[in-house]
Parts: sequence; C-alpha cells; structure tokens
Amino acid sequence: MKELQIGGLVSFTTIDYPGKLAAVLFLKGCPLKCAYCSNSHLIAVENGEYDPEKVFDWLKARAGKLEGVVFSGGEALMQADTTIEYMKRVKELGFAIGLHTNGFYPDLLRKVDGIVDWVGLDFKATKQHYKDLTGIDIAYDRMIESLQYWVSTGRGLEVRTTCDPRYVSKEDLLEIAKIASGASVKHFAVQKYTPYHEEEAAQTTPADREQFFNDDDLKKKIESLFESVIWRNN
Ligand code: SF4
Repeated sequence: MKELQIGGLVSFTTIDYPGKLAAVLFLKGCPLKCAYCSNSHLIAVENGEYDPEKVFDWLKARAGKLEGVVFSGGEALMQADTTIEYMKRVKELGFAIGLHTNGFYPDLLRKVDGIVDWVGLDFKATKQHYKDLTGIDIAYDRMIESLQYWVSTGRGLEVRTTCDPRYVSKEDLLEIAKIASGASVKHFAVQKYTPYHEEEAAQTTPADREQFFNDDDLKKKIESLFESVIWRNN
C-alpha cells in the first residue's frame, strides 16, 4: 500500500462538517483543472507535506475531543485505496468521516459507502459550462452519477455551488438548484467565489461576485427547493 499524500491539515473547524467539530485533511491529487483553483499545490499526487502516521497518532490523541474528520483536497478519492484504508483506520478511532469531493470518481464513492458518513459534493456549473470551468469534458456526467448514487445511500449530503460569475449566472444557479432538488437533494449551499490570483480578480467585479446573495427573488426560489440552504457569503 502506498503512503497517503497529505498536503494540508486544519486542526479544528466548525464549518467544514455541518454540526460537528472536525479536523480536515487536505489530500494531494486532483483530476480537474478548475479555473478558480486556489489549491494548485495539491494537484499532483506527490510530495506530501505530512507524515500520515504522525497525523494518525495526532488524530488518535484527539479522539473524544473532535467529532469528525473531513477528507478534502484536491480530490480525496484520487488516492483511491490508499485513502480508503486510511479512512477506515480513522473511523475505527470513533470519528465520523466527512468527504469533500468533486464527484469525479463515482465507483470509488460506492466503495466508501459504510465508511463515509457525510459528503459535501461540488456541483460546479450547468452541463453547458462544466468543461469550460473544469477543463474535463466527462466531469459533469461523473458528478451527476456520484450525486445520484450518494442520494440513494440516504447518508448525509450537502451539494454546493461556488458562484464564479465567469461560469455561473443567476439563471444557471437556479437551474443547478432545480436539478439537485429533482434528484432529491435536501441540503444545498451557495458559496461566494473569491478570486485567488490578481489577474483573475480583474476579470470580475465585487458586484458580479455578490449578485447571487442580494437577489431576494432568487433566494426565495432556491430556498423553496430544499430543506436547508446555506449562503456562504464570505
Ligand atoms: S476540484 Fe478543487 S482542487 Fe481540483 S482543480 Fe477544482 S478547485 Fe482545484
């Protein structure tokens, strides 16, 4: 078994796993090339910056103090069985397991059913704009397959859209929400896009980025589709 490549760690968070005090592990590797990626240092599966056994021992010492551990990225499932075996060990310590994923690996998502308790799934854009945003033309279909599968498990799920106005309009956001709701998603999150690079920042205005959060009609329509909607406007 290869060694898990960990590129980052947050020791305590209340926002990355809804309702739980959690730690977050940022795993290396991602198959997508999102235009707004702020994690380019995580894209290659190599040169992990943390010793996975030291992280495991640290988690062991946090058992009973923290409730959950979130596997994020990058794309946490890109390290496949290496990630899954590590998740199993962490679960045996008594933690709830969260997964942030872009949904690119529906077959691996099937493999973590029974290990992962809650998923935060990125629904990045409408089908029409998915390839422009992610650089990969099969990314939309795989994400939808992952979404449908995880809904079918009945386990915790939040579908989230980061509203980069270069790729998502208000109409698109409503369309995404309708597709998610139509697939029986109950919890949806709308996330503000924050440009990472200076040249990226020049491509949109603060008003462009804010437009999704100050349209009461849009808010009402989206909130009518789900049990809960989180507006992450910061
Ligand atoms: S899925 Fe996340 S880590 Fe991967 S390229 Fe997109 S923004 Fe970056």
